[in-house]
Amino acid sequence: MTRFIFITGGVVSSLGKGLGAAALGALLQARGFKVRLRKLDPYLNVDPGTMSPTQHGEVFVTDDGAETDLDLGHYERFTGVHNKKTDNVTTGRIYSDVLARERRGDYLGATIQVIPHVTDAIKAFVYNDLTDEDFVLCEIGGTVGDIESLPFLEAIRQLGNELGRERACFIHVTLIPYIKAAGELKTKPTQHSVKELQSVGIQPDILMCRTEQELPQDQRGKIALFCNVSKDAVILAKDVANIYDVPVAYHEQGLDAQVCSHFGLDGKSPDLSRWNGISDAYTNPDGEVTVAVVGKYVSLQDSYKSLSEALTHGGIANRLRVKLKWIDSEDLEQSDEAVAEHLSDVSAILVPGGFGKRGSEGKIRAIAYAREHKVPYLGICFGMQMAVLETARALGGMPEANSSEFGPDGEQLVGLMTEWTSGNELQTRSEEDDLGGTMRLGAYECHLNAGSIVRDMYGDKVIFERHRHRYEVNVAYKDALEKAGMTMSGLSPDGSLPEIVERPDHPWFVGVQFHPELKSKPFEPHPLFVGFIAAAEKRDRLV
Ligand code: GLN
Repeated sequence: MTRFIFITGGVVSSLGKGLGAAALGALLQARGFKVRLRKLDPYLNVDPGTMSPTQHGEVFVTDDGAETDLDLGHYERFTGVHNKKTDNVTTGRIYSDVLARERRGDYLGATIQVIPHVTDAIKAFVYNDLTDEDFVLCEIGGTVGDIESLPFLEAIRQLGNELGRERACFIHVTLIPYIKAAGELKTKPTQHSVKELQSVGIQPDILMCRTEQELPQDQRGKIALFCNVSKDAVILAKDVANIYDVPVAYHEQGLDAQVCSHFGLDGKSPDLSRWNGISDAYTNPDGEVTVAVVGKYVSLQDSYKSLSEALTHGGIANRLRVKLKWIDSEDLEQSDEAVAEHLSDVSAILVPGGFGKRGSEGKIRAIAYAREHKVPYLGICFGMQMAVLETARALGGMPEANSSEFGPDGEQLVGLMTEWTSGNELQTRSEEDDLGGTMRLGAYECHLNAGSIVRDMYGDKVIFERHRHRYEVNVAYKDALEKAGMTMSGLSPDGSLPEIVERPDHPWFVGVQFHPELKSKPFEPHPLFVGFIAAAEKRDRLV
């Protein structure tokens, strides 16, 4: 029997609802249950693919090629369950599907309304594509009281009614602010938020109260009384030092026990050894390395969420604390001195994924620094493309080497990809296509050369990694790049798409066309990040 847990948020945004859902998923898994996590986003974009990373954070890509909300990254990192296209939906997607059906005449002339047509589409999403899951956790994006949230809240209210208490549980995440001047924790915003939820017909079963301070018993009683929940269902979600401490912290507060008791499931204890181990490796490292991340969206670190987590995982595997030095690539464009000033004290350099010309020359300068000073380098997607341009310009006798992403000038080593195969299907795109959802997206196979760094790291010949890009290094430059010291050590199965480049004359210089950070987990750190951090530590020891 599949049970559904609906997670809403109130008072303010950024309460860590996604993390809370992910941690609860991990706890239920640790009790032996099969879980699935889903996100329902009330915004009007069809998917987050075209949203600015500095506004909305990173776009998380699934194996099956969906561009999704970054919370899905938390879900995967905490549970290891790979998300699918069917795990994230937005108002935009729901409406575009409903409207397409209306145009096709599927509604047989009915007047299309929010209730029941939109709410039915939301409910169908919740029930869709399930097999033998014990729990489906559905996080509703946004904050209760937002106009956009209403159809989603109405849909989950109806689901609660259909499923009954035995199969549905409502968790509401709120904030209990601490007012310094009064020296008090205030429960009123939580009371109001629950009232708001009740006004749309939803009575929360469990409250997760985010707070910086301990919550005294009498306050807990007050919240229970006003919000119509039992005192044990008021779970304190105190800030913790590290996100991987969250599952254990929430377990100690009784979250998973409360959920099980709600559903009348017996209270077998979860096995938390995985999380205790991660916490220990993170909290008690043997050393520290500093990685420079040279990017364009450094003003909002959520735009590189999976990346910073993957670097942390690489650190956990090596028992090292990984300090990140965020560098705006435009700051490296003034002079070589500026580059040295920013990069001379780091253990390794990483250029992450990116789009557009702005800041690209700064990234190329950072790559030149890494190559010349033998600093370990990892280039991801755009970071690989720029590494190719750097080598071609500096060593390949192609000073005009360029990417067609920057316009028609120069010698285009990196060009718009117009055809590639996905499974057995030929995919084609042209310059005129929409920007949304038209990139090469999702997991693709890649074959690794014997004797390469990556073959050694992965310990495997064939890998599957997730992509999100429009441009591609032209394989016709393979020999020219090789002469300049750069090998193509990973290619698509048909040999037409370069997926990985390396410099064998360098201690650790790897560029990958895919996004390895999307598949890293704290309990299964990605081999490239493990190798990259180990190389960073080695360099620190040698210099
Ligand atoms: N802008 C580049 C492309 O579309 C790189 C994309 C990325 O780094 N994700 O190919």
